[in-house]
Amino acid sequence: MFLVITFVLMALLLRKAFCSWLCPVGTFSEWLWKLGRRLFRRNYLLPRWADLPLRGLKYLLLGFFLWAVASMSTAEIGAFLHSPYGLIADVKMLNFFRFLGMAGAITLVVLGASSVLIQNFWCRYCCPYGALLGLASLASPLRIRRDPQGCIDCAKCARACPSALPVDKLLTVKSAECTACLECVAVCPAAGALSMSAALPGAGWRWQRLQPWALAAGIAILFLGISGYARLTGHWNTNLPGDLYMQLVPHANEARHPMPGERSK
Ligand code: SF4
Ligand code: SF4
Ligand code: SF4
Repeated sequence: MFLVITFVLMALLLRKAFCSWLCPVGTFSEWLWKLGRRLFRRNYLLPRWADLPLRGLKYLLLGFFLWAVASMSTAEIGAFLHSPYGLIADVKMLNFFRFLGMAGAITLVVLGASSVLIQNFWCRYCCPYGALLGLASLASPLRIRRDPQGCIDCAKCARACPSALPVDKLLTVKSAECTACLECVAVCPAAGALSMSAALPGAGWRWQRLQPWALAAGIAILFLGISGYARLTGHWNTNLPGDLYMQLVPHANEARHPMPGERSK
């Protein structure tokens, strides 16, 4: 819960920085499209008629998970968390990969192959966590800003953008797909033409340029600060007794996900 709070807060303040700076799945996804670029000298983009509806898929998945949680009462959520399944959900997750079935293996191969060919396939189309952070990031005061006076229209920023955003055509990047990776800023050859800027209140909004180190420092402070607080106050580790956990682990495959009708039992 502390991690979820950290990453949502990070999105509210620093855009979807979790995705480009911290997420291990995002890193793996990046390795895959870079492999594809090395093998085929390019990555592919789906045509717009397929790209747009597919981008909605992650929001549908997010909606499903939010509906599943919202449709449970507090007591039902507590009962689920304290069911054998909820207590060893982490072991269940590990076992999913340790004893991978045919359907799971085919899904992983399809996702892996798609990610080699299409940049960030999983993140762009399927990840509900990224969808949640993207929606939260719309409230962030940070935006990539282009100064048309300094811009020389080379389009290097758009080509470098892992989220395929038309940075060279926009004055302000507002998209929920922007992960604050700063790739566009790094490749821009025109000094000062492109920057990550923060909207500051005052007499009307004014934009303050943000140095990359300040973004990195903000991410580190949020992540280390909140997880450090959870550790110091004893909220980091589970209060499940170790011997009970060890008793449940060998029976992880027998623990069934409680079904809706069983929640209140
Ligand atoms: S979209 Fe999902 S998998 Fe991709 S980097 Fe973000 S949180 Fe990680
Ligand atoms: S390259 Fe720039 S516009 Fe694209 S995701 Fe990264 S920070 Fe956002
Ligand atoms: S890389 Fe810089 S100079 Fe080139 S189009 Fe983008 S903002 Fe303009």
